Amino acid sequence: EMFGQLTTGLESAWSKLKGEETLTKENIVEPMRDIRRALLEADVSLPVVRRFVQAVSDQAVGTGLIRGVKPDQQMVKIVHDELVKLMGGEVSELVFSKSGPTVILLAGLQGVGKTTVCAKLAYYLKKLGKSCMLIAGDVYRPAAIDQLVILGQQVEVPVYSAGTDIKPAEIARKGLQEAKRQNIDVVIMDTAGRLQIDKTMMDELKEVKRELNPTEVLLVVDAMTGQEAAALVTTFNLEIGITGAILTKLDGDSRGGAALSVKEVSGKPIKLVGRGERLEDLEPFYPDRMAGRILGMGDVLSFVEKASEVMRQEDAEELQKKIMSAKFDFNDFLKQTRAVARMGSMTRVIGMIPGMGKVTPAQVREAEKSLMVMEAIIEAMTPEEREQPELLAESPTRRKRVAQDSGKTEQQVSQLVAQLFQMRVKMKNLMGMMQGGSIPALSN
Ligand code: GDP
Repeated sequence: EMFGQLTTGLESAWSKLKGEETLTKENIVEPMRDIRRALLEADVSLPVVRRFVQAVSDQAVGTGLIRGVKPDQQMVKIVHDELVKLMGGEVSELVFSKSGPTVILLAGLQGVGKTTVCAKLAYYLKKLGKSCMLIAGDVYRPAAIDQLVILGQQVEVPVYSAGTDIKPAEIARKGLQEAKRQNIDVVIMDTAGRLQIDKTMMDELKEVKRELNPTEVLLVVDAMTGQEAAALVTTFNLEIGITGAILTKLDGDSRGGAALSVKEVSGKPIKLVGRGERLEDLEPFYPDRMAGRILGMGDVLSFVEKASEVMRQEDAEELQKKIMSAKFDFNDFLKQTRAVARMGSMTRVIGMIPGMGKVTPAQVREAEKSLMVMEAIIEAMTPEEREQPELLAESPTRRKRVAQDSGKTEQQVSQLVAQLFQMRVKMKNLMGMMQGGSIPALSN
């Protein structure tokens, strides 16, 4: 099983939360230690593990438990979403050139599976309906050229080769010329791999790159090398500039460190993964599927997603009732503003909050800041004051006390109270319109 050890390590984290009623700073200490250990044993790089564990802890104690969801289940979901983020979020597609042939330059150390990837990639692209040509650029190993020619015959794509008595950049130039002549869609150039990085290798690659002006420069790395793969991607990117990585040998007993570290360490995405020796064993890298495979808990994940969907729905209905009866109070205000800060689905409500018509990321950050002020003020209110904002509207003494207790100014408190009443009016008007009533005269 792929990444089996990592999966088992993480399972021990969930198991420690069984029987708990909520997630707290205290009860996640042990599980977080398990997660940390599991990731380190999978050979994920240490700074990445640190950031990951911090992000998961923050969310575990920072967001309330979704109704009907158990703490261990919610933890699975949090870890899943962070894993997806760690691996780059979305799938990173191959880019194709809009004019002339798409040129893919492949680099990598010896033995990582680069030659095999050339053939697999041609096979993959042919299935997408693209015509391909391979260029044999490993001028140091005649055997590598022969291997590519044989693979090319298997995939039924032309292979351009010019022997070993020629500079790689020269082969690149001639090969590209030939591809253009044949109207080829995608040109894939294999380059020499060495046992380790050296200057000659980098210089040659730079020259080839200059010659080809490639659409994609992909570094082929071996998943078995763990976080070393991420370090290689970083180095190649700094030296020659690459567009992404191809991770091979994911079918072996690799531990996951490469898949989890490459994006975070190098900033470059894994675009494709090799999962076997056959031609068809190359596929796009899907961060969410990968996270799902690592956790092996698809049912839990979809359950938590549904539960949070239901909760949002119930909240929205509850809110609507309150708005219609003008009972919208500070508790709702807080809940709603939090939902806005989390970029919840109620975009209509966002538009009604003064100063938040169209929402940009900067505005979301701004909203988060003012949310913190609001939270402090609302927390300093008594339960009666939260439910009956009139109490505060009518009493300067109460407002003064809230200001003192929250560490905010009286003006900020007054503003917040005024804002609540403004929202009541606006929401009521809007609901009236939405329910087909006559358009009321706005009273403010
Ligand atoms: P190169 O030196 O980088 O060109 O490496 P090759 O393409 O010659 O591959 C080296 C070895 O790794 C060969 O035996 C391949 O069959 C094997 N190989 C390549 N990719 C994969 C993969 O995704 N999974 C497995 N199991 N083996 C692979």
